[in-house]
Amino acid sequence: MENRDCFYCSKDQALESLMIEITKLNVSTLYLNKDQTHKGRCIIAFDRHVRELFQLKQEERYYFIEDISNVAKVLDQLFHPDKINFAIYGDLVSHLHIHVVPKVKDSPEWGEAFVNSPKSKKYLSQKNYDDLIHEIKIGLKQGGILNGLT
Ligand SMILES: [Zn+2]
Repeated sequence: MENRDCFYCSKDQALESLMIEITKLNVSTLYLNKDQTHKGRCIIAFDRHVRELFQLKQEERYYFIEDISNVAKVLDQLFHPDKINFAIYGDLVSHLHIHVVPKVKDSPEWGEAFVNSPKSKKYLSQKNYDDLIHEIKIGLKQGGILNGLT
């Protein structure tokens, strides 16, 4: 089921302005958030347009959580955060997606919810995004999560 008003479904410029696709997972797509205030910050969007976790079939929910867990493990190994935050909001973009946000003690927003306020955004050069995506893909491959580099 596709929703034309949803950028996760249409994959339009609104999506491209916020994130870069890294790879497909079992039942979701992994994106690198362009705001890298928290190094390795990603978004994992479920493959089809559903609003809530409870609307997934049991098997889909199992694989969605697997996808989230696998990515978090790789981010932990790569960037050694003190804690990874997970957040499902969707007030404005209702397509089921989760923010995966590695946090480091004594850095911005430690001990509080991460935000999307413009003052905190940290953008990288295209080369740095490419390098980061490559690093995450290598991590996924080494973890047996990706079979090949695409
Ligand atoms: Zn959607």
